[in-house]
Amino acid sequence: MTPDELKTAILGVKCWQRNDQRAPNKPIMMAYALSRYLDGHEQFFLYEESLHQDVHDLLKRFGPQRSIYHPEYPFWRLKNDGFWTVNNDDECKSRKSNTDPAKSELYKYGVTAGFDDDAFSILNGNAQLILELIESILSENFPESIIPDIAAQLGIELNTLHVKKRDPNFRKNVLRAYNYQCAVCGYDLRMDDVSVGLEAAHIKWKQFHGPCDVNNGLTLCSLHHKAFDKGAFSITENFKVKLSESLNGGEQAQRLFFDYEDNQIRLPKKDNLIPNLGYLNWHLKEVFK
Ligand SMILES: [Zn+2]
Repeated sequence: MTPDELKTAILGVKCWQRNDQRAPNKPIMMAYALSRYLDGHEQFFLYEESLHQDVHDLLKRFGPQRSIYHPEYPFWRLKNDGFWTVNNDDECKSRKSNTDPAKSELYKYGVTAGFDDDAFSILNGNAQLILELIESILSENFPESIIPDIAAQLGIELNTLHVKKRDPNFRKNVLRAYNYQCAVCGYDLRMDDVSVGLEAAHIKWKQFHGPCDVNNGLTLCSLHHKAFDKGAFSITENFKVKLSESLNGGEQAQRLFFDYEDNQIRLPKKDNLIPNLGYLNWHLKEVFK
């Protein structure tokens, strides 16, 4: 196996998407394991409380809203992808019945998992390759605005030189359609005629085939963009601001978020530029918390 073959195998992992639903379990498990190798972790990870908690927190913070999170699934299921090994699983019932293991079994039998020997021999000591792989995994699954937050949670800093170029017309057209104002708060700071801190957000993420069309965009200030991509709020089919019940904060948070609850957002004048309800619905289901 060469580094390129490993990269292809990692980026080719199936089940990242099912009918446009977000399923970030495997990408997050891989990024977690890779980041731990940077700290000098050995090849295999024991399924223990600290791993369960770390991966659980990543899934909860950056994955779609679920009533329960299962870090044990990717720990186990990655073995079908050609570069991941699971050890001490002989006693697990799931091994015989071909179902997912119970977390309790993984603890009980001291099951370990990690990149297989071939993959580990390529990764071991190659920090540059590991960082590149983490960056590729994250940029295939998450919008640019929240990748630095995931990296921080993993305890790494990514070189953003590799971030893909986006369609330059998207930003231009979206900002123009919204008259260079944040759709939520109306923020419109300019230096002469150049907007500062205004961004074009994708409603349905590019990573899930959301197009670079104005009706899949919103002009948002940097703050509202990040909060939107993290699912802190969404936009209903009546174009009203819907806030996550998880939000809390003081006076500034009140002013910047709670005061806009149920407010109608600013919309483009032309009907064909107004956010498409299908894309808004995707955001509500797959990103909103
Ligand atoms: Zn704003």
